[in-house]
Order: sequence, then structure tokens, then C-alpha cells
Amino acid sequence: MKDIVLLHRNLRLADNPALYNGSLRRSYCALFVFDETYWKGNGRSNRQLKFALECLRELDESLCQVNAKVRVFCGSLINLADLLNSSFPNAKIHLNQCTDIGYYRDAIARFKSAIGPSRFKEYSDFGVQRLNFDRDRWSRDWERQMREPIVTNPMASEEVDLKSSCLIGVDDFLDLNKAKSLYPNIQEGGSKNAALLLDTFLNSRCEGYKTKMSNPNDAEQACSRLSPHLAFGSISMRTVFQKLESSVPRSPFKSDLNSFKKRLYWHCHFVQKLETEPELEFRSMHPMCDGLRDSYNDEMIEKWITGQTGFPFLDACILFLRDVGWINFRMRAMIMSFASYNLWQPWQKTSPLLAQLFVDYEPGIHISQVQMQSGTTGINLPRIYSVTKQSVEQDPTLTWTTKRLPSLVGLDLKNVHEAELRELYLEKMVDLKSSARKARELIWGIRANPQFKALARKVYLRHGSRKRQWKSTRGKMQS
Ligand SMILES: Cc1cc2nc3c(=O)[nH]c(=O)nc-3n(C[C@H](O)[C@H](O)[C@H](O)COP(=O)(O)OP(=O)(O)OC[C@H]3O[C@@H](n4cnc5c(N)ncnc54)[C@H](O)[C@@H]3O)c2cc1C
Repeated sequence: MKDIVLLHRNLRLADNPALYNGSLRRSYCALFVFDETYWKGNGRSNRQLKFALECLRELDESLCQVNAKVRVFCGSLINLADLLNSSFPNAKIHLNQCTDIGYYRDAIARFKSAIGPSRFKEYSDFGVQRLNFDRDRWSRDWERQMREPIVTNPMASEEVDLKSSCLIGVDDFLDLNKAKSLYPNIQEGGSKNAALLLDTFLNSRCEGYKTKMSNPNDAEQACSRLSPHLAFGSISMRTVFQKLESSVPRSPFKSDLNSFKKRLYWHCHFVQKLETEPELEFRSMHPMCDGLRDSYNDEMIEKWITGQTGFPFLDACILFLRDVGWINFRMRAMIMSFASYNLWQPWQKTSPLLAQLFVDYEPGIHISQVQMQSGTTGINLPRIYSVTKQSVEQDPTLTWTTKRLPSLVGLDLKNVHEAELRELYLEKMVDLKSSARKARELIWGIRANPQFKALARKVYLRHGSRKRQWKSTRGKMQS
């Protein structure tokens, strides 16, 4: 075997540079590393693993058709380096770059050094920039990357298999793994599903996207739902971008599709922040914000993440997320804002628990968004969502809320929206108004410090978006 392609979160056949380049000598195999410690790492969870395994199974089937296979290695990347050095010392290793949690970053660095630089070839994937990185030119470079030709599918292999008792086939691995039978209501992985979602979204589902995306009921259909596929690479960002560009001229929903395009950009813009400053996984973007919340309360955090806050609409959102593994942007922001502002809990404690519930957990996006909704970036104006206001605006008839909380059917709408239910529902964890007022005082107190602005400027120069046209209104909030 001349070439080995390592699979991580790039589980697709099409537009996969590592797989294509690894296939050129026609003697290759793909390897998926199942490292249990990684899957128990910061924000990772079994529901994400289930999705990844579905992508992996489909990729294995596709590779079988070109006489190649996926093999699974159970162990750490450093264990794998030992195996490759002893049993396959001449094979070249190909891998797509991935911005991930610190555990993975450290493991891949150790793997590279154990394998040796001459055997290792890493390819760019998605829109993150590592070489010649320049924030001022970043968006132009991103567009250029997105317009590059789609990479051809891998060649057929002439060698049959990578033989080692340490490697198992995907089907055998799936039989061993329990994650596959759990979570009946989460999205199903695989490139075919991703392609179908993209087609239906571009052709019809995107109608009204711009407004429907804020509502948890409408958003389920009106958003693309591509996020887990982008997170696990069952479709490439370039494929999505190019299909979108070719659809826009003939689409009656141009303005919805333009809004979608901005979000594709944001995806990579946020991942770039973590790539540039990996410490953001644990530290606040603005250094003066880390001292804001210096204690935490496990009991409060547990009630929040299990949907027992006493605020029906918020609880319904959390219960929906627990069941489906996805919820729309506005509700994610509200859930996080409640934990960080109303409950005043440190984001470092709450962020991984929320991430575990998302099938689409993408550390770069998640951590940036969590910090934005906690007021710790220094470059975004703090926004405290009122859960009762969102209840009235997003679910006026409470049809959506009561689907998750049927015991509230038939109660006075106003009382349910305002969570004034006494013994009819759980006790409210906090008083919304006074907790928000206190949070505002603390956040603005720190922002008034003369040093705050100078440090915020540094954060902006390092991470802020330079897209001029988006600075005016909503886009400003996305910097
Ligand atoms: C606290 C919080 C945590 C979040 N964590 C994640 C996460 O772990 N993974 C994740 O993919 N998204 C995350 N988001 C962003 C957003 O909520 C999801 O991308 C979106 O809801 C996914 O659904 P969709 O694919 O239907 O999105 P669409 O609206 O169809 O958007 C298409 C794609 O654009 C990207 N995108 C959309 N909105 C944003 C955004 N605001 N910032 C960056 N990229 C965006 C995503 O890749 C998404 O798949 C988070 C938002 C918040 C407020």
C-alpha cells in the first residue's frame, strides 16, 4: 500500500483533496481513527459520532466501487503513528486540514512529528486560511478559494486492502458501536442526504428563509439544515457555494439566497478565529472579560441544560434541541444568553454541555457564538435576549411550545408566555428583569474601563470581519 488517507471530519468522496491526491498512485486505503478520548472531549458526543458513522458507512460503500476501502483504527493518533511506522513505513499519509478542539490539534501535531514531515501531506479543506493569512484580504481570498474547481473523485485502487490485525472494516466497527442505535430523531448523515438537502433548499425550501429562520417552527424546514454535513464534511463548502452561485440567477428567491451566502462566509470566518487563536476554546476573546463570571453553580447549569428553567418557551427550545440535535440560530442565541446573562454562569462551563447537544458542533463557530452571546468578545455589542419576549414573538399561539410541554395546553396564553404559572409549572429559576439589569451593569461596567477599548481594537484587528457592506446593520453583530 503506497498511500493512506486519514479521514477525520471530511467524510465524502467528492471534492476531497486528500482522497483524490492519495489515490493518484492507485494503491491506497482510507483510515478512520476512532479515538474514544476525542469523542469524550470538549463538546463532543455520541449523537455526533452517530452522524459521523453514517457518513463513514456511505463513503465506504462508494470507495468499494473503486476497489478501495475504509478501515477503522481504534486508538489514539499516536498509537496509529506507531503502527504506521512499524507496519507501513513507506506509505505516504494524506490528510485534509481541520480546525478542531485542542485535544485533536495536539494529537495531530504529535502524530506529524512521529511520522516525520516527508511522509505527511496536508491539504486545505473548506475556507480556513493557514498560509499567507491576512485579515484585510481574507474575504477576497475566501471567495477565490470557493471558486476553485471541484476536485475530481478518487481513482480506482489496484491494491485490495490494508492488512493488519489492528484495523477493522466499517461494518464490523458499526456492529461494535452502540451510538448507531440511539437518537432516532436526529438528522441522518451521508453525502446523498446532504445533496438532497442542498437541492431542495435551493429549489424551493429557501422561500422566505430570511424571515422564517428566526422562528423555531418555520426554520426547521426553511433553513438548509446542512450544518451537520458541513461539520462532518459529507459535503464540501465549495460544492455548496458553487451550486448556490449557479442557482441564484434563475431563482425567484434571490434575496433569501444572498442571505444564505453570507452565512456560508460566516461559517469559515468564525472557524478562522479558532484556527488563528486556539486558546479561545478556554479563554475569552477580550482578556478583560475572563474575570467577569468567577464562580458557577452546577445545580443551576443542570436545570438549564435539561430544560427545567421554569420559562416554558425556553424549556421547549431546550427539549426540542435535546430530541432533534438542532435548533435555529435565534433560539441557540437565546438559550446561551439566558445561561450567561440571566443565570450569570461562566461560558466555559456551559458551552461544552450545549455543544454536546448539537449534531453540527463546529468548535470554531460554536465557541465564537457562545462568546458573542456572553458578551466576552469585546467587539460585539452585548445583546440580552428576553425569553418571554421571544415566546410572544416566535410562538404567539404557543402551539410549538405545548408540543413539547403538553401539560400547558389550555392555560392562559399570557400567563404561559410570561411564565406566571405558580404550581401549574416549574418554579422560575430567576427574575428576568433584575437578572438582566445586573448583567448589563456588570458588562457595561467593564466596558467603561479605559483599557477596554484599546484591547478591543487589538481583538478586532486579529479577528474582526472587514466585509464593508456588512458593517452597517446586522452584519456588525457578526464581526
Ligand atoms: C450559541 C450558538 C452556537 C452555535 N453553534 C454552532 C455549531 O456548533 N455549528 C454550526 O454549524 N453552527 C452553530 N451556530 C450557528 C447557527 O445557529 C447554525 O449554523 C445554524 O442554525 C445551522 O442550521 P442550518 O444549517 O439550517 O443553517 P442555514 O441558515 O441554512 O445556514 C447555512 C450554513 O451557514 C453556516 N451558518 C449559519 N449561520 C451561521 C452563523 N451565525 N455563524 C456561522 N455560520 C453560520 C452554517 O454552516 C450553516 O450550516 C451556533 C449559533 C449560536 C448562537
